Amino acid sequence: MSWSRPEPGDWSSPAELAALQRRQLPRVIAQALRSPFYAARYEGRTPPSTADDFAGIELTTKQDLRDQYPFGMLAVERERLATYHESSGTSGEPTASYYTDEDWTDLAERFARKWTGIDSSDTFLVRTPYGLVITGHLAQAAGRLRGATVVPGDARSLATPLARMVRVLKSLDVTLTWCNPTEITMLAAAAKAAGLRPDRDFPALRAMFTAAEPLTEVRRRRLSEIWGGIPVVEEYGSTETGTIAGQCPEGRLHLWADRAVFEVYDPATGEVSAAGRGQMVVTPLYRDAMPLLRYNLADEVEVATDPCPCGWLLPTVTVLGRAGTEHTVGAATVTQQRLEEIVFSLPVSYEVMFWRAMAHSDVLRLEFEAPDATREQAVKELGEALDRELGVPHRVTGLPLGTLVPAEALTAQRDILKARYLFAEGEDWDKAVMYF
Ligand SMILES: [Zn+2]
Repeated sequence: MSWSRPEPGDWSSPAELAALQRRQLPRVIAQALRSPFYAARYEGRTPPSTADDFAGIELTTKQDLRDQYPFGMLAVERERLATYHESSGTSGEPTASYYTDEDWTDLAERFARKWTGIDSSDTFLVRTPYGLVITGHLAQAAGRLRGATVVPGDARSLATPLARMVRVLKSLDVTLTWCNPTEITMLAAAAKAAGLRPDRDFPALRAMFTAAEPLTEVRRRRLSEIWGGIPVVEEYGSTETGTIAGQCPEGRLHLWADRAVFEVYDPATGEVSAAGRGQMVVTPLYRDAMPLLRYNLADEVEVATDPCPCGWLLPTVTVLGRAGTEHTVGAATVTQQRLEEIVFSLPVSYEVMFWRAMAHSDVLRLEFEAPDATREQAVKELGEALDRELGVPHRVTGLPLGTLVPAEALTAQRDILKARYLFAEGEDWDKAVMYF
């Protein structure tokens, strides 16, 4: 079915935004009841139908989606599907998701809501995986929707080693990129390995879009500095929902609450509320193939409704659940997030990009790569920062460049072979069939 989808500017108050959601809810519920899963859930009971009924609907869990693999959530004829995707959790059980062409327009429009804009003058390097997950396709569709030239630089393909991506960034005058935060540093390291300076030698690059990893404000600023101060624009989403929040010019993540209803679930009390701290629950408002009613993403979040100076009139979200596990070292508590803030508080001129830490019960081991010229000073300052900020017993080691991320990973220009069956005498035929 064809929906008329809202865009920013279509509401001028929280009440108008709520009205946009309420208008859509009966259609979303009706569409959901066309799927085997929701039909079975309400068999023998009066199903929900109105916006008022919404508050009584049970949550849909990740386990529900796994149990319904592959097509238990399907609410349209198979012929109408445009793409099929999977994400796999830690259990290894697949979670399927699928979209019609019309669903794809909604997905692409949400991704395309970057405050820096995406337009036909842009060359957009998509550097996330394309295999089964949605991320690469999402950026590709958004770039195409806005008329940009998309360069598919799949982050998991043998055809796209980092060195090749650096060449593409430079020689195509790429203006926008989409990759995870670690990849932003990997690209910078690969650029340096190619004799280029990321802060100076890519003048066309105007913004880098990122998601999929916990990202502290300190690290986001550092990524921006490494690339000469261009905006690093974060978003939040999943393969089952697409983009659900995007960053505003003030640096806050706003939920796209005109396109989905967002709620916060407290597992302790079982209560669901519009704001506060708890697990993120999402009801997309504009999708046909795989409707989700109150889908619990299970990410720990904090949703706030106080106004933001950007004026977007959308709630904000802080993703807490991806901050990682806490570890106890001596009398101190250590998280990846806190260590990241400390490491990236070193001056940018120290060129520290890659680090790792191990939390033993009595000592925190922290290792990082730095050039010869700054390594000693970085060890000293990091040790002092760990004493001052965490009071944790530590052993800090500075490593030469190439220890954590081998030079080979930054410079390899792998040839992609094609399958071949006939060889001349003396040729290497070991890769005849196993050609990758
Ligand atoms: Zn804002």
